[in-house]
Amino acid sequence: MEDCVFCKIRLKELHGTILYSDDDFMIIKDINPQAKIHLIAIPNTHVPYIDMMTEDGACLLGKIISKISHMQEELGITGGYRLIINQGDNAGQTVAHVHIHILGGEKLKEF
Ligand code: 5GP
Ligand code: ZN
Repeated sequence: MEDCVFCKIRLKELHGTILYSDDDFMIIKDINPQAKIHLIAIPNTHVPYIDMMTEDGACLLGKIISKISHMQEELGITGGYRLIINQGDNAGQTVAHVHIHILGGEKLKEF
């Protein structure tokens, strides 16, 4: 947790563009956007990987997904968006603090 960039951003020890925060999570702009809009939803509690999360932690992710769906306008998203969670090395997870990528703002490549 001490070396976690997302925790440091939440604690304002590192700069980050925080678009939203509440008792559960925050939404920041990704520093290296992979789409016109690339945001990251980050639970406040530091848990490195999905498979280390409790059921309550996973339920919180569901709550966050629901909140995001009601925030599209304030996040500047129109026409849909994609949510991605990378889990572990094969998926390319680089920050060991569970987070949800929010991609939108343009037609995304299908896969
Ligand atoms: P992952 O690859 O772990 O799923 O995603 C980590 C994301 O965090 C990457 O898209 C990366 O660009 C972003 N990121 C890494 N360090 C920082 C940082 O210091 N600030 C911000 N805003 N994003 C970061
Ligand atoms: Zn963290």
